[in-house]
Amino acid sequence: MSNTYDVIVVGSRCAGSPTAMLLARKGYRVLLVDRATFPSDTISTHVVHPLAVSALRRWGLADALAATGCPPIATYAFHFGKFVLAGTPGTADEPIAYCPRRIILDKLLLDAAAAAGAEIREGFVVEEIVVEDGRVVGIKGRSKQGTRVTERAAVVVGADGRNSIVANAVAPQKYNEQPALLAPYYLYCSGLPMAGRYETYMLRNRGLAVAPTHDGLTIVIVAWPYAEFAANKHDLESSALAVIDLAPEFAERFRAAKRETRVFGMPTPNYFRKPYGPGWTLVGDAGYIRDPITAQGIRDAFRDAEACALALDQSFGGASSYENAMSNYQRSRDASVLSMYEYTCKFATLQAPSPEMRQLFKAMRGNQQAMDDFARMNAGTVSPAEFLAQHNVSAIMAAASAGNHR
Ligand SMILES: Cc1cc2nc3c(=O)[nH]c(=O)nc-3n(C[C@H](O)[C@H](O)[C@H](O)COP(=O)(O)OP(=O)(O)OC[C@H]3O[C@@H](n4cnc5c(N)ncnc54)[C@H](O)[C@@H]3O)c2cc1C
Repeated sequence: MSNTYDVIVVGSRCAGSPTAMLLARKGYRVLLVDRATFPSDTISTHVVHPLAVSALRRWGLADALAATGCPPIATYAFHFGKFVLAGTPGTADEPIAYCPRRIILDKLLLDAAAAAGAEIREGFVVEEIVVEDGRVVGIKGRSKQGTRVTERAAVVVGADGRNSIVANAVAPQKYNEQPALLAPYYLYCSGLPMAGRYETYMLRNRGLAVAPTHDGLTIVIVAWPYAEFAANKHDLESSALAVIDLAPEFAERFRAAKRETRVFGMPTPNYFRKPYGPGWTLVGDAGYIRDPITAQGIRDAFRDAEACALALDQSFGGASSYENAMSNYQRSRDASVLSMYEYTCKFATLQAPSPEMRQLFKAMRGNQQAMDDFARMNAGTVSPAEFLAQHNVSAIMAAASAGNHR
C-alpha cells in the first residue's frame, strides 16, 4: 500500500510543530497530529533562552512572539543572599529571552506548521504505531469525531513527549540515564513587577526562580529534592510557600502581589534515547529528557526539530543515506547537549556548591564580563564545559585577586 504522507509527526508542541513546519516548507507531505486541541496548556514552566529565540527568528516567528506582548527578559539575576550576580543571557545579535505562556507559544508554532502546508489534526489520539517487517510504516488513531483511521508515511516522527507512544512501540536504547532528581512546581501571580529580569535564588536544598510572562503575570517556580516528593505532594501549597519564605527579600514582594493560580508541576526523569530506526525518529522530550532546572527543554526541542528535519530532507533527497543522516542527527544532538546535561543533573541535586564554586561565585562580583558569561552558561548560550574550563575560572579568580572589578 502506498504512503499518503512523507512524514507523520505525532505531537504538536515545541518539537513537533517546528519539525512539521520545516519539512512542509521543503515541500514534503506532512501530517501533524495531537490529542490536544489548541490553544492548550501543559505542565511546564516556559523560560525560552536567547538561543531558542534565535531559532524562532530563523523561522520568521520571533517578531510574532514579541507581538503577543510577552515581556522581554534582558537580565538573568542570581541571588546569593549577600550578593547578586546579574548578567545578560544572550549574544549581541540575540540578547533577549522570553517566558511565553505555552498556551500562546504552542499555538503560534502549530499555526506556523499549518501555514507551511502541514495537514493538522487536533483532538487526534494515536492508539497504535503500525510496524511491518520490523519497520514503522504508519499510525492508527481516533479522530476528534471518534472515527478510527490508519495513516501511512515513509517516516513517523515521535514528538510526543516523555510518554511517547512511538518510543514505546520501538523500544529504543536508553543511555546516560539518571533518576528523577527534583520536584519542580510553579504558580502565577499578578502585580509582581520584574523589570525584564529572570531571578534565581540560590537556596540551601531548595530552588526558587521567578520570571515575567504574558498578561501581566509572573511565574514563580519552586523546587525541592525528589527525595521529598512523596512527603510534600499532598501539601504543595505550604511546601511552595515555605520555599518562598527562604528568600525574605522576594517573599516580601510575593506577599504584596496577587496570587492567581494554584500550584502545578511534576518531576522529570533524565535520559537519552537513540532517536531513530527504520521508519521512525524522535524529537524533543521523546528522545532526550532532562530536569527542567536549567530550562533547556524548549531550546532542545527547537534544535532537534531543525536537525531532524535537515537529516530527513538529506535522506529523502538522496544527499545522504537514511542511516548516515540520522546517525549524524544523533551525534550532533548528543555532542551539543552533553555538557549542559551533566551541569543540569548536578544543579538539580540542589546540593550546596563546592568550596571552589563558592569562591568562584564571590570572585565574579562586580566583574561584568564574568557575570554575563555566567548568565550565558545558565542560558545555554555558552556550554558549562567552556565557562567552567580551568583557564576561564583562573582568569576570573586572578581578576578578583587583582581587584580589577571591585
Ligand atoms: C515542571 C516543568 C518545568 C519546565 N520548565 C521549562 C522551562 O522553563 N523552559 C524550557 O525550555 N523547558 C521547560 N520544561 C521542559 C519542557 O516543557 C519540555 O522539554 C517541552 O515541552 C518538550 O516539548 P515536546 O514537544 O518534546 O513534548 P511535549 O511538550 O510533551 O508535547 C508532546 C505532545 O504530544 C502529544 N501526544 C502525546 N502522546 C500522544 C498520542 N498518543 N496521540 C496524540 N498526541 C500525543 C501531547 O498531547 C503533547 O501535546 C519544563 C518541564 C516541566 C515538567
